[in-house]
Amino acid sequence: MGEITTKVLVLGGGPGGYVAAIRAGQHHLDAVLVEETRLGGTCLNVGCIPSKALIHAAEAYDHARRQATSAPFGLSVERPSLDFRRMIGWKDGIVGRLNTGVAALLKKSRVKIVRGHGTMLDGKTCCVETDTGPETIRAEHVVLATGSVAARLPSLPFGGRVISSTEALSLAEVPATLAVVGAGYIGLELGIAYAKLGAKVTVIEAADRILPLYDAELTRPVSRRLQALGVETMANAKATGLSDGGDALLVETSGGRREVAADKILVAVGRRPRTDGWGLERLDLAMTGPFIGIDERCATSMRNVWAIGDVTGEPMLAHRAMAQGAMVADIVAGHRRAFHKVVIPAVCFTDPEIVTAGLAPDEARTAGYEVRTGVFPLQANGRAMTLQAEDGFVRVTARADNHLVLGIQAVGAGVSELSAAFGLALEMGARLEDIAGTIHAHPTLGEAFHEASLNGLGESLHI
Ligand SMILES: Cc1cc2nc3c(=O)[nH]c(=O)nc-3n(C[C@H](O)[C@H](O)[C@H](O)COP(=O)(O)OP(=O)(O)OC[C@H]3O[C@@H](n4cnc5c(N)ncnc54)[C@H](O)[C@@H]3O)c2cc1C
Repeated sequence: MGEITTKVLVLGGGPGGYVAAIRAGQHHLDAVLVEETRLGGTCLNVGCIPSKALIHAAEAYDHARRQATSAPFGLSVERPSLDFRRMIGWKDGIVGRLNTGVAALLKKSRVKIVRGHGTMLDGKTCCVETDTGPETIRAEHVVLATGSVAARLPSLPFGGRVISSTEALSLAEVPATLAVVGAGYIGLELGIAYAKLGAKVTVIEAADRILPLYDAELTRPVSRRLQALGVETMANAKATGLSDGGDALLVETSGGRREVAADKILVAVGRRPRTDGWGLERLDLAMTGPFIGIDERCATSMRNVWAIGDVTGEPMLAHRAMAQGAMVADIVAGHRRAFHKVVIPAVCFTDPEIVTAGLAPDEARTAGYEVRTGVFPLQANGRAMTLQAEDGFVRVTARADNHLVLGIQAVGAGVSELSAAFGLALEMGARLEDIAGTIHAHPTLGEAFHEASLNGLGESLHI
């Protein structure tokens, strides 16, 4: 049995864990990263990156098909065809390049990577089952970054035609019919991509509308697009299991029971923290519901045991995990740091995209603020017109008294790239006047952010 002693042990090589390890190495701390599958975790291998690759490729195909039937600017495309296996291969190529990149970054930071399943024996010791036998790692500091897994529905266990987002990203062919259970961001991103690739998609959602965690105004352009793509949306509906023949999904709606034909059934009802199978029970950690409890420094209830990323709670997003990972490494290196972020922007890569950063108007009012809001429709934005992407808007919410911006949201094609500007404005404490007084390049979607702020001040120029 091998033994390693190190300053920092990171359990899990997802965006949280690998960033923590890289930063620890940059601080010249001895760091060991334990990963049982591929570097990059959920995000790089079966999450953010492969899903966005598939979304892009599906959009390209759909775009070509649309050009074949109507050519508003005179481009003629004849019967585009799709080699889905090649598409998946292209997506895998991007994932592979990023895997290699992460390994190189870890090497550059002199991080030792131990491949295998790790089990915590106590707050300082981890036993890893490697290909060459067990390896024991003793560390002064432990960073738990075990991530999350797809939540299951007891009535629809994974297997056969019932799949999670992981399998949905590597299908052998486009299913003729696809039922998506759960109209959250993961279900809709993948459902829309498969609709564009030619599947007949039905979305089943228990709440009364799609994307129930987003405010209704933001979701309307997405609903319109779903309709245009021929996606059937069943709201207030509950998937209860498979039909006797196993080839259809049973759905209970207010109007009665229905069978939805489905070659594949994608269950996307959320994610749960990965808290089992790695010795959590041997540690004395305070939990916050199903998550490992942490304070503003990502410290757990055990001294020198830290936790980051999806295993610690919402929002389960890669950029939160990365920011926490870097911060914990800084703290271990002796810096005074705390996770006091004004905002963690979130993007929903549906068609059109949705960005949320900070408070929505209703949330701001509920929090006790008197607010003024500014809105600018993309219909009035020149760049959006040239991109044939006019359905959507940017909305800014600010305090009525001093105009401090409290939240910014947008819906529209390509608005994900505005998330940086939104995050920066909120993090730096911008007031409406700061955004209004900043020159935004023309013609860009960013001008809609500028105009929304002008609108909030009652100084609109282009509406
Ligand atoms: C389909 C999909 C799309 C997504 N899209 C986005 C997006 O667009 N933007 C975004 O911000 N987020 C997105 N996410 C969420 C994002 O993937 C997660 O928030 C992020 O990966 C969390 O990072 P993490 O480091 O906490 O955990 P993970 O990425 O889950 O990594 C944990 C790692 O730990 C390893 N591990 C766990 N236990 C052990 C053990 N005992 N021994 C060894 N190794 C272990 C796992 O193998 C895994 O590699 C998406 C998720 C999915 C499923």
